Amino acid sequence: MAKDYYDILGVSKTASQDEIKKAFRKLAHQHHPDKKHGDEAKFKEINDAYGTLSDPEKRARYDKFGMGANDQGPGGPSGGHSGGPFGAGGFNMNDFQFQGSGFEDMFSDLFGGGRGFGQGGARSQAGADIETDIEISFEEMVSGVRKTIRIRKPLACSLCHGTGGAPGASEETCSTCRGSGRVTKTVQSFLGTFSQASVCPKCHGKGRWFSKECPTCKGAGKNIGEEEISFEVPAGIENGQTIALAGKGAAGEAGMPPGDLFITVHVRSHDLFERRGDNIVSSLSITFAQAALGDTVSVETVHGPVRMKIPAGTQPGEIFRIKGKGLRSVRGWGSGDHLVAIKIEVPKKLSGEEKKLIEKLRELSGK
Ligand SMILES: [Zn+2]
Ligand SMILES: [Zn+2]
Repeated sequence: MAKDYYDILGVSKTASQDEIKKAFRKLAHQHHPDKKHGDEAKFKEINDAYGTLSDPEKRARYDKFGMGANDQGPGGPSGGHSGGPFGAGGFNMNDFQFQGSGFEDMFSDLFGGGRGFGQGGARSQAGADIETDIEISFEEMVSGVRKTIRIRKPLACSLCHGTGGAPGASEETCSTCRGSGRVTKTVQSFLGTFSQASVCPKCHGKGRWFSKECPTCKGAGKNIGEEEISFEVPAGIENGQTIALAGKGAAGEAGMPPGDLFITVHVRSHDLFERRGDNIVSSLSITFAQAALGDTVSVETVHGPVRMKIPAGTQPGEIFRIKGKGLRSVRGWGSGDHLVAIKIEVPKKLSGEEKKLIEKLRELSGK
């Protein structure tokens, strides 16, 4: 914590509020712990710095007295600025109790009402990621398709823009959490005693309290609502593959980015076709005569029927390749082939004449 707040955000001592906000957003997005290359410690640092520098009063005190200047300032422990999930100062490592994958948390957060985000409310107040599933037909997989889904999720309140305050309401430090946005309780478990943080029920974790709360969202800054989202499912997508839509997850707290939306695509199986990589496989039943003498047949492919030559002497299980009639390559160049696996039908019933002819054939072959 010895680092300078201006250095942490990479701005000059004379940076404007706008520059500070921009630098914060960029860094927060980059180091968000939910992101692939996120860095919890760094993210916390960034939030601390922003919590102080984004508030003109705290910034002035910090400029004058340096680190810690805001810890005993008037109005109790500082922090909990609406833009920073942890606020400045008063950070407690006990607050970080990441358990499980976070997946269940996400759903309980999404549907548990105004409980706030994250286990015990200790995680950042960026929006949660959302996962969902869609099913597409085999044909849609082949051609690619544009899909529109409706997602029920927390949306930023349109009236207060996520602040939770009624238009024109005055803003004060929350008395319940004294601005930290969190309340801590002691939990006994067989592993010992833990202090567990949860989102302050009065201010919903913002650390701020409005003289009049937003009538639309009741101060939460978010409403559960539906959003219609359209996206492209690329041709050749694999069954079970996931499409990520950045920023289409749950709304974040004011000033924090929304989560991402992850859509897992399930491809329905097809009666005739089976996929093997970029190739499509189907089977074709032909008669013994067609196999022995050769023929030209029509083969159904995903690009429509194609005429195919069966050479004389074709064996059961033989595979013929129809070039370029498979899937457009997922890797972006060329396309797969259609493979035809040959089956030979043995007649279950023979007419008298057929029987005679086959018996004749047996004599000729000497078996
Ligand atoms: Zn609102
Ligand atoms: Zn509070």
